[in-house]
This record gives sequence, structure tokens and C-alpha cells, in this order.
Amino acid sequence: MPCPTVAIVGRPNVGKSTLFNRLTRQRKAVVESTPGVTRDRLYGQAEAFGKPYTLIDTGGIDPLEKEELRAKARAQAQVAIDEADILIFLVDGREGLTPVDYEVADLLRRTQKPILLVVNKMESFKDTYAHEAYSLGLGEYIPVSALHGNNVGALVEQLAALLPEPEEEEEEEEAIKVAVVGRPNVGKSSLVNAILGEERVIVSEIPGTTRDAIDTRFSRGEQEFVFIDTAGIRRKSKVKAPLEYYSVLRAIRAIERADVVLVLLDALEGVTEQDKRIAGLAHEAGRGVILVVNKWDLMRAYLQGGEDAEPSPEVEMHLFARNLRQLLRDYTRVVRRELVFLEYAPLLYISARQREGIDQVLEEIVLVAEHHAFRASTSELNRVLQEALADHPPPTAKGRAVKVFYATQVKVKPPTFVLFVNHPERMHFSYQRYLENRLRKAFNFEGTPVRLILRARREESLRSRPRGKRGSGRGSGTFR
Ligand code: GDP
Ligand code: GDP
Repeated sequence: MPCPTVAIVGRPNVGKSTLFNRLTRQRKAVVESTPGVTRDRLYGQAEAFGKPYTLIDTGGIDPLEKEELRAKARAQAQVAIDEADILIFLVDGREGLTPVDYEVADLLRRTQKPILLVVNKMESFKDTYAHEAYSLGLGEYIPVSALHGNNVGALVEQLAALLPEPEEEEEEEEAIKVAVVGRPNVGKSSLVNAILGEERVIVSEIPGTTRDAIDTRFSRGEQEFVFIDTAGIRRKSKVKAPLEYYSVLRAIRAIERADVVLVLLDALEGVTEQDKRIAGLAHEAGRGVILVVNKWDLMRAYLQGGEDAEPSPEVEMHLFARNLRQLLRDYTRVVRRELVFLEYAPLLYISARQREGIDQVLEEIVLVAEHHAFRASTSELNRVLQEALADHPPPTAKGRAVKVFYATQVKVKPPTFVLFVNHPERMHFSYQRYLENRLRKAFNFEGTPVRLILRARREESLRSRPRGKRGSGRGSGTFR
């Protein structure tokens, strides 16, 4: 289900994040906190007249932290031009245009991709500089007020006209869709090449969301895989500076379409801020996740006193290993601590260059995809729930009992459970974690996030219904 990408570009303060919030609001955000990841929301799902798209706020990603404004704006625009399907160019109708706006416009005029020129802050039509927008050479503009909502409907309408008809979900798709993400140079293309080189049964290269995104489908035994945007992985960026920025945008797009995400880390670098951010995207999107530490050959060389293998000071600081086993243990501890929110993700050590651990990566993908799509039977689910409640009843909140009645699984990919409780707001987060862990123990959910949704249910309304009933299982079957 390729979902087109729409990017909002424009210099700081024109209202990009305000517009982003307005356009994504109608779809409810995933209510989940990710401990350890602090980041702005830089992308979200939205719909224009029933046509879904992924909206990216390019202002939320800072490509060149130390650079001056002009270079930043150019870099952000360039990346959006390369990576998005449709561009929204936002300018400020109150302050008027600045040289930076003209520079961005110069870049935009060179692309074939559709551009919507939007003049913001137009809630009052007095004293505006909107007419200047014509001088950008991008044609007609749409005046809006992102803050107050004026005329945003017209923008959405024009956007809808540019978006493709939504595709029917092809449910028979047997192939596991895999995204390989990570910072530049962690070894993404080496890994993809190692896998494809070994399997050699590349069935086809199929076009992805954009004309330049090529997915690769291949099979291994009975199992089919689709590696998302292999062309993008292999293609090296044309612009030097904002490499990291590309990797985030590319990751967002790939993760959106994936079942399982391989988050690659560079053994010598350890877990960097950028790695955390990319890993956080996969987690929040609810995909299956596998952590892959690549270039393990270099760590081995380091242990043997190899000259050219030099871990970063951050990594070295934590390692006291004298042998390989200890090195693995130390290293695992560091990765787990840095990525606590991914404690459910398997952690693999490989060398793409030396083709070590490649088979294991494929095997793990199959397992994680299974867990990610697992559907528990309602009776089994409630048996596990009742056991968990009996072993460790919910603590009372402000002297009042918290009761959990029953649970149903409402979704797969990732497994999502609704718990019916008397007072959802009274159930402590740590107790939810406890229940989640009990579910994880009972059903193997390694590699997949699990979501719990609490719903209020009064006891009286339950009494009239048979307890622990199977009917609710059938009801949730509509989500298949
Ligand atoms: P960004 O840096 O481009 O993401 O801009 P923001 O969305 O953070 O907005 C910058 C400022 O402009 C904030 O103070 C917003 O409240 C304000 N702003 C955004 N949209 C409008 C609008 O439609 N009208 C007015 N008057 N102010 C707006
Ligand atoms: P990408 O930018 O993430 O696609 O990374 P590449 O696959 O292009 O790899 C970047 C560099 O790391 C290249 O020079 C690779 O040869 C090297 N590299 C990739 N995997 C390994 C590995 O497992 N061990 C070693 N020693 N080098 C590797």
C-alpha cells in the first residue's frame, strides 16, 4: 500500500508546524510515549478526501545544525524535492518574502514534482504581501491561515486532486515487507547486497511509491520478501551536507510501508542520537523491529589489537572485554541501555562485508513478521489476563478498586488489545507494563511492539453479558 509523501517546505516561522498540526489532526495520533526518545513529531498520516498521504514537516528535522539559515533552508528544500512526491511551499503573507524564500523557489522551479504554493497567515486580508507570491515564479497561490483554519479546505482540495486514488489493500500479499534503515555508512547497501547476492532468486524489481523508488522482491524457500526502496539504499546522496537528514526522510518513507524494520548500527560508533531517532520512528510506527549491529568484524579486530579498528570514545568507554563473549555481553548492555524502548527487539551481530550472520537476519525477519501479525484467541487471551490479575491484582487508586474485566485483540501488525476496565484513568502505567509483559510471556511477541488500549466499562453493563465470552472474539474478526 504505497502511501504518497507530501513535504512542507519553507523558511523558519512561516507556520510549517502549525499547518502540519492542522492537516494531521483529523487522524488521531498514536497515544504512546517512547521513553528515551525526545523528538518533535516530524511526520504524520493525513487524508485528503479519503486519499491517504504521509505528511512531513521538514522544519522538524534540522539538517545542518551549525549552518546559517539560508544553507539550512536550501538543504531542507533539496531533500524534500528529492524524496517527497508532492511539495507544499509555505511563505508568510504578513512579513512578506525574504531572499531565502526566493532561493528556495529557485530550487523548486527546477523540479518536475507538483508544488502547491501556499501563503500563510492570511486570516485578515488587510496589509498582506500575498501578491508578492506571484514573483516567485511558481504560478497561482493558495492563501490560508494555518492557525485559524481559513481556506485550508481549498488547500486540501487541491492536494487531493494531485494524490492518486487509494489502492485496495491486497490482503493476499504473502511477502514480508522489509525496510533497512540507518545512518549513512552503517552498511545498509552492503547488507542488502549480501542478502540479494546470496539468495540470487530476485523475482522482480517493482516500482515503489515514486518513480525513483525501486523495491526488490525475492524468495528464499517458500518465503517471499520485499526489500523496500533498494534503489534508495544504493543511491548515494547528491548533496553532501545533509546526509543524516536524508537518512531520516528515507527511513520515514520506508518504515511507513514495512512489516519489519531492520535498524542498522555501526559497531564502531555504537548508538548515536541519530540512531535513536531512527529507531524511535520504527517503534512509534508500530512495526516489527530488529536491531542489527553491523561491522562486527571490526570489533573483533579491535579486540585482537587491530590497528585500523578504532571504536568511538563513547563505545570504548563501556568496554572492558578481554574475550569475544565478554565483548558481546558488554556491547549488548550498552545497546540495550541506549535503546530501552526497543527492549522487545532482537539484537543481532553481523558483518555484511564478510557475509557473517546474514542467514540469521533472514530467519529473524520471518519470526518477527509472524509475531507482528499474531492473533491470539479470545479465550486464551482472557485466560492469560485472569491469571495475571490473580497473581498480581491492580493496585487501588486513591482507595478505589481498579478492575479489569476482559480483553479482546482488535488488531494485528502490531498486536493491539483493548482492555475493558472500570476506570481507565486510574490504572497506573507500571501496571499496564506488567500486563503487557504477561502477554508477551504467554504469546511470543519478540520483535513486535504490543499496544494496550484501555476502555471504560461499567460493571452493571457487563453483568447482563456472559463473562469470558467467545462472542467478542468473533466481533473482532471484522478487523481481519
Ligand atoms: P515553522 O517554524 O515554519 O514551523 O512555524 P510555526 O508553525 O512554528 O509558526 C511560527 C509562528 O507563526 C507561530 O507563532 C505561529 O503561531 C504563527 N502562525 C502560524 N500560522 C499562523 C497563521 O495562520 N496566522 C498567524 N497570525 N500566525 C500564524
Ligand atoms: P550505507 O550508506 O548504509 O548503505 O553503507 P554502505 O553499505 O555503503 O557501507 C559503508 C562502508 O562501510 C563501505 O565502505 C562498506 O564497505 C563498509 N562496510 C559495510 N559493512 C561492513 C562490515 O560488515 N564490515 C566492515 N569492516 N565494513 C563494512
